[in-house]
Amino acid sequence: MTYTDWFQIHTKKHRAIVNRLSAEKLTPEQIVEYFEFDNMVYYESDFCLLYTTKTKCHDIPHLNCYWCACPHFRFDDNALPNIEKITVYSHCAINAPLGKVFHHESSLHHDCSDCTIPHESKVILKNFSIDWKDTMKKCLITSNI
Ligand code: SF4
Repeated sequence: MTYTDWFQIHTKKHRAIVNRLSAEKLTPEQIVEYFEFDNMVYYESDFCLLYTTKTKCHDIPHLNCYWCACPHFRFDDNALPNIEKITVYSHCAINAPLGKVFHHESSLHHDCSDCTIPHESKVILKNFSIDWKDTMKKCLITSNI
């Protein structure tokens, strides 16, 4: 699955949930709280593949899944090789200190497995939008979804 495929599928899943919660007149704080890992595993088992095994993508006490992805992540499924013949498909726009790089043959992807910035409720609420796709709009470098 490409980054773009995942982005499109996730946009629909996220929108379906927030539309339902908005119709119930939940506040932003209540909506973000709903996306706490334990609650999502129980009520929204189809939202993430990891929920089937109750596995957290980051082993932190209050993992919040509202963003799932990160607004600082940048990806380009159509990236071309650079002068060193390496194709950089993704990177972190803020060079977060806990971000890493994943090399595979001549491809390079950004690895966020040690960074928990997008999973903290206070960060999400500070930049809250009901529209996940709008929050993530800078992630796509060349695609036009
Ligand atoms: S390293 Fe952290 S801040 Fe950067 S894209 Fe990944 S999760 Fe976001």
